[in-house]
Formats: sequence, C-alpha cells, structure tokens
Amino acid sequence: MDKVFVTRSSMPGLDEYVKEISPLFESHYLTNAGVKHEELKKELRAYLDSRGLELTVNGHMALELVIQAFGLKGEVITTPFTFCSTTHAIVRSGLKPVFADVDPKSCTLDPDCVERLITPDTCAILPVHVYGNMCDVDRLGEIAARHGLKVIYDAAHTFGVRYRGRSAVSFGDASILSFHATKVFNTIEGGAAASDSEQLGDRIRVLRDFGIVDEQLVTDIGPNAKMNEFAAAMGLCNLRHVEGEIARRRKVHERYVELLESVEGIRLNPPQEDVEPNYAYFPVFVDEKAYGEDRDALFERLKENGIFARKYFYPMVTDLKCYRDVYDSSSTPVARALSHQVLTLPMYADLSMEDVDRIAGIISKK
Ligand SMILES: *Cc1c(COP(=O)(O)O)cnc(C)c1O
Repeated sequence: MDKVFVTRSSMPGLDEYVKEISPLFESHYLTNAGVKHEELKKELRAYLDSRGLELTVNGHMALELVIQAFGLKGEVITTPFTFCSTTHAIVRSGLKPVFADVDPKSCTLDPDCVERLITPDTCAILPVHVYGNMCDVDRLGEIAARHGLKVIYDAAHTFGVRYRGRSAVSFGDASILSFHATKVFNTIEGGAAASDSEQLGDRIRVLRDFGIVDEQLVTDIGPNAKMNEFAAAMGLCNLRHVEGEIARRRKVHERYVELLESVEGIRLNPPQEDVEPNYAYFPVFVDEKAYGEDRDALFERLKENGIFARKYFYPMVTDLKCYRDVYDSSSTPVARALSHQVLTLPMYADLSMEDVDRIAGIISKK
C-alpha cells in the first residue's frame, strides 16, 4: 500500500536547478543579496504586484521584521486559528496578542469580533488568509483606518491569490509570505515581506541584516534573516512552473469536490466570490453527528489506509502548551469548534487522481 502524505514539495528538474546554481560555483558569492536573490526579488515583485517586496530567510522572520519595522507597541488583535508562527511573532516581539474569533465559513478573522476588542492599547491587526481564503480585507481595512491601526496580513497561504483582480498581498500595510517547502511556491525555506512601500522595503533590508546600514553604521538590533543564493535559485526555477502547479492542484481540488460534496456530515471549504484561488489546501470539516464519526476517528481510519491527513490547525494556538495557561480559548468558540472538526487532506500538484479517488472513497464509504 502506497503511503500518501498531506503534502509533497514542488521541485524543478535536477538539470534545471544545476543550470541555475552553476554560476555560483564560479562567483563564490553565496548570500547577502546576490545575483539570484535580486533576480528572484524582481520577478516576484512583478508576479505579485508588490513594489516594495523584500526576500527573507523564511516567512516567520518576515513577520518579525515587519513588526519591528513598524515599531509596534501594545496589543495586536489576531486569530487563534493559525499556525503558531503568527502568534509567536507577536509575543517574541514583546507585544500582547488579543484573540478575536473567526468566521465559520472562511476561517478568517470576524471583523465584528475584531472591532469589539479594540482598546487604546491596540496598535495593529494581524489577520491570516487561512487555507488561501481571503480575509474580509474591505471591512478590516475600514476598521483599521477608523481606529488608526496598522494591518499586517499573514499571507503565507495565499501565494498568487487574487481578489477582484488585485494581488492578495496588496492589502493592508504589509503582508508576509512563506516560501517554505510545503507551500504552493517554495524556495526550500524562504519568505518575503510584501508591500507597496519602498520605505518599508528599505527598513526590511537593514533589519534582516543585523540592522547594518554600512560597515560602521548599525542603526537597529536586527536578526540575521537573509535569503541565500541557493534558495533564491530554487525559487527562480519553481516560479517558472508555478502556474502549471496551481492548474494541477485545481484538478485535484475539483475531483475532491465532485466526490465529497454530497457526503453527509462532511463540509467543504466554500469558494469565495471574486477570489482567484491557489488551491493551497483541501480542508474538510467533520460534523460528528451527521457523519457518524468524529474527526479524530476519520483521521485514524485514513492513517490505517496509508493516508496521512493533517489536523491543521489543531490544537488552535490558545490551546497549545506554551499558551494555554496564559490565554483563554473559550472566548473564541467558533475557532475552537473548527479546530476540532478540521482535517486537511493530501493536496499537491503531483497527487494522482487514483489517490484522490482512494482518499475520497475512504471518506465517503464508512
Ligand atoms: C508557513 C506559515 C508561516 C511560517 O512560514 P515559514 O516560512 O515556515 O517561517 C506563518 N504563518 C502561516 C499561516 C504559515 O502557514
């Protein structure tokens, strides 16, 4: 029985990658905004319509750098239904996360809940475009403008997504992207801080390099968060194929929908109006009563059949060991319920239709 994992990293052909990195064996210039880095930055700025985009070592550090660049202090309203990186970036920056509940359809921050939590100490909103679903950027933007707050989107799941024809990373004051191996587009490890602000871009470049402006001038206490040339070269290769990858993900997505949409007790992630998706994930939500089995039982049954789905995101952030004694997760009941129902199924461009059929068969059979 072949094992199927939840994701499989996209890679170019070996020849293509070797060709891309071969100049590095002549230049011996391996990091610090080298040729590959600058080329990838230029291409991503064009592909994502992001004038001020800067590359980083990963998505997490992009988020910490943006927070540092904005000099935020106080409370940040965010979602508990995310990967722990989002929350860790807030806490590690000396800020206080305040958790608002999410909308049950999109799994993204509910603007009404956000607004109720705003206090004089609030400095920013940090929403996450979960599974590639766009947040309610219109209302969040309006609320932030009315209260003078920054909005930083965690867009780790929305590479290439468009809303009303606009790039997903063009909303808010900045967005961060992750190019981790498991994401729709990868540079092995990598990320970016995206914005239209050249000023923010300038700050990110200094901060990601220890705060060094020049040999003698160090203006900030920054980390080392630079992308190296081998990662950038991987990105240049993968970017050539990303549209084809998304098209193949779409086929997988459509097959899953066809086979699962009428299974009682299994709710699918609904498509969003005016959104061009990237098919990053395929979450299903298990209604124990209607399905006759809970999420954990389905997870185990898939595993017995060699299918490794993922409870993503479970536990939700405020239930993680490092946070559960500090934050009260009962104040976000929608997020909590989703975290107990969700299972993300295997989703990647190379996933065969036979495997999709097999997975859907296990889910619909019972
Ligand atoms: C992947 C991910 C991150 C972190 O990105 P890295 O590149 O792994 O550091 C942050 N937030 C979300 C929602 C993610 O999925």
